[in-house]
Amino acid sequence: MQKTIIRERIRAILNTFDHIPRAHVQSFGCQLNFCDGEKYKGVLQDLGYELTEQPENADVILFNACAVRAHAESRVIGRLGTLKPIKEQNPRLIVGLCGCMAEEEEVRALLKKSYPFVKLILGAGAMERLPESLLAIYEGEKRHEELEFSGLPDETLPTVRDSVFQASVPVMYGCNNFCTYCIVPYVRGRERSRTPDAIEQEVRSLIEKGCREILLLGQNVNSYGRGLEEEIDFPALLQRLDRIPGDYFIRFMSSHPKDATPKLIDTMLQSEHIEHHLHLPVQCGSNRVLQEMNRRYTTEKYLELIDYTRKKAPDFGFSSDLIVGFPTENEADFADTMRLIEYVKYDNLYTFIYSPRSGTPAAEMPFASTQEQISLRMKQLLARQREISEEFNKRFLGKKVRFLAEKADSETGMVQGKTREGMMLEVPGKTEDVGKMWDAEVTGVKNWALTGRILTK
Ligand code: SAM
Ligand code: SF4
Repeated sequence: MQKTIIRERIRAILNTFDHIPRAHVQSFGCQLNFCDGEKYKGVLQDLGYELTEQPENADVILFNACAVRAHAESRVIGRLGTLKPIKEQNPRLIVGLCGCMAEEEEVRALLKKSYPFVKLILGAGAMERLPESLLAIYEGEKRHEELEFSGLPDETLPTVRDSVFQASVPVMYGCNNFCTYCIVPYVRGRERSRTPDAIEQEVRSLIEKGCREILLLGQNVNSYGRGLEEEIDFPALLQRLDRIPGDYFIRFMSSHPKDATPKLIDTMLQSEHIEHHLHLPVQCGSNRVLQEMNRRYTTEKYLELIDYTRKKAPDFGFSSDLIVGFPTENEADFADTMRLIEYVKYDNLYTFIYSPRSGTPAAEMPFASTQEQISLRMKQLLARQREISEEFNKRFLGKKVRFLAEKADSETGMVQGKTREGMMLEVPGKTEDVGKMWDAEVTGVKNWALTGRILTK
């Protein structure tokens, strides 16, 4: 059935409601999920729903959830449980689960058995089939599942952005890397890149509308362009976007260390808008564990890029993801991780306790350590990292930085934002300053953030 016909049929059904039809979308997990959530909102609004933050007022509730860690999944299942009384009050309410969590067979089986009021299941690659799925349920289907991947999402999907001055723009979808602990390649499919024209058009239009920060997204942005007709790699895409005139920052994530190159660093350093900070997830400091994780780099290769960068730009900041308690990790491996964080001096670490994901090779590996030992390692890692970043952040004291104000606290009279170097900075300011870019002088260091004063607006 044609898209326009589906839309008209849904609108005709919504016209029979005795109130304004409303939809509620809640996203969980990574930035890409939040970005998908903005598209779900766009599609629902286009169909005639008003968006609401209150699930109890909604006629459609979509939970757009992440499959990467079991703990986050349990929270989503718990939240879904709280929707049961809302469904009992409003029998016409459609509750749906979408995103990569919906791709998991075990999750779908659990919902079918214990949460039968969740009638709509929409996989991570089936976003544009939301209208026909809703129509199927309105027309009497008891439960509707859409799991097939349809390549790249439709470029014309409407989007409702959560912010007017910060926007996420996916450059590619999926992952080919199959790290042994990770479920993403199974639930997000193989790598597919958007065309540079489509990306540039979206970024240009956002900047022209006043957007100040563009976050480019992909599971491994460094493999951007593979398989495209036009020959282009990620640094070349960055150079193209950097030429768009305006006052804005370009950030990106994630960068797989096996494909991060000096060319990427040079592009960042020579650019006008790209952040001087790289999120380069190392996952672990032990070469043996890295091999078992199938990461395809060694710590020596990883540190070569850090050294190359710091030689050219000593203030350049790095952040990383680290998994503690990978099944075969022992005390000696963890000591390697501690040595690595000492050497790199990350500005920020995103640390995760390993979570077994069924169907991945690591889920079959026996544990070399107890959960108690793993929790202790995590505590030790966090405590040392706090000291390292507080010490290393001092390199910014007295320096002039450019930053984007992201939020205001009327009680403290401060605004908070991120510098081009990816550092959190707090300065005196008001709500109306949010969304603006300023030059500031750094006057102090807290453990995870800088404090400063405004120089120019
Ligand atoms: N593609 C990105 C990369 O390789 O750098 C990472 C994307 S993944 C959604 C974000 C982070 O979740 C990973 O870097 C890893 O640290 C963490 N992660 C993935 N699977 C995990 C698992 N099974 N248990 C704990 N953390 C995990
Ligand atoms: Fe997961 Fe590895 Fe792909 Fe990142 S690169 S999404 S960690 S499989």
